[in-house]
Amino acid sequence: MVEALDQVNEANKTDVIIIGAGPVGLFAVFELGLLGLNAHVIDILDRPGGQCAELYPEKPILDIPSRLKVSGQELTEQLMEQIQPFDPVFHFNQMAESVERLDNGHFLLRTDEGKVFEAPVICIAAGGGSFVPKKPKLEGIDDFENSTLFYAVRKMDLFRDKNVLVAGGGDSALDWVIALNPIVKSMCIVHRRPDFRAMQDSVEKMRELESDGKLDVHIAQILKFNGSDGQVASVTMKNSDRGEYDVECDTVLAFYGLTMKLGPIANWGINLEHNRIPVDTEKFETSEPGIFCIGDMCYYPGKLKLILSGFHESALMSHGAFHYARPDQKLKFQHTTSSSALQEKVGGS
Ligand code: FAD
Repeated sequence: MVEALDQVNEANKTDVIIIGAGPVGLFAVFELGLLGLNAHVIDILDRPGGQCAELYPEKPILDIPSRLKVSGQELTEQLMEQIQPFDPVFHFNQMAESVERLDNGHFLLRTDEGKVFEAPVICIAAGGGSFVPKKPKLEGIDDFENSTLFYAVRKMDLFRDKNVLVAGGGDSALDWVIALNPIVKSMCIVHRRPDFRAMQDSVEKMRELESDGKLDVHIAQILKFNGSDGQVASVTMKNSDRGEYDVECDTVLAFYGLTMKLGPIANWGINLEHNRIPVDTEKFETSEPGIFCIGDMCYYPGKLKLILSGFHESALMSHGAFHYARPDQKLKFQHTTSSSALQEKVGGS
């Protein structure tokens, strides 16, 4: 047990810390909000939506009740709108790294960016685990990682006045080309194929930057990074027109896709079964009292990895969480249709 730390300020004390801003973590904010509970939401990604936003933003989902068809991105946007009345606080670009039990029975959660949170309840909605970047298989790249080679943008200012080379041709690569272009000294993008997999609108914006002379586009394969002491100086690439050639740069942003790993949650002392967390089906509580798990990461007999199952789990988890967050109060179950207070808050009246 540890004493509450000074680093936890009032702003980071909440009723429930939700790990994961996928569809299930987002809907959990709503269900907790209906019971008057506040939430902070942590995600390693730089945006909400989890698998829906990251893996299939434009694919139609056909099995959300009453929605004939909704894309992963639309579902995410509308969940964000639905939870907005409950004022969730989001902490993106943060990996939930460790959890300790405090003397007061609450949990102290730390992220890899050094943020500290305190809450009586933790809700793990971490899906298939945290998204981690796939690394290109190039010799010696470890020497540059996190000094001049990055797989995500955590602070835009790091790229200010730099000669940035972006590798990749998907949405993340193009989103960052567009967002960072105004603050860099020079920029180029390298992609293996002439067709970019990003949204059409982003491809058009990228082509505009190219024709305005603000971006060089290389259709080529990266062979190696050159430099010393963690400082990249150039990248050697190859294509059929030019053969092997070097492009000078001082900072590289590489987007080679994402893979999902359970990550630090495996070390929190919670029972695991095949990398998933067993829960009861009454409250979706784990082997650790006060820590709940919902969505793709939880396991119980008959579990289906579906968004709609996660929504159901969110409702029952919230009722379980209430008793830890408000131990002196009686939970009053109300339908949204019959509570004028809820209708006023959620905007349905
Ligand atoms: P996720 O969506 O995986 O979100 C979890 C989030 O937690 C992620 O953003 C991750 O970065 C974050 N996270 C994890 N660990 C940490 C950590 N330690 N710190 C910080 N953040 C962390 N389901 C349907 O119901 N219908 C469909 O048609 C359908 N189609 C699909 C198509 C594809 C191609 C795929 C891959 C899945 C599909 N699914 C579908 C499944 C559905 O996407 C998942 O069931 C759903 O996304 C689970 O939601 P979740 O919130 O539990 O997890």
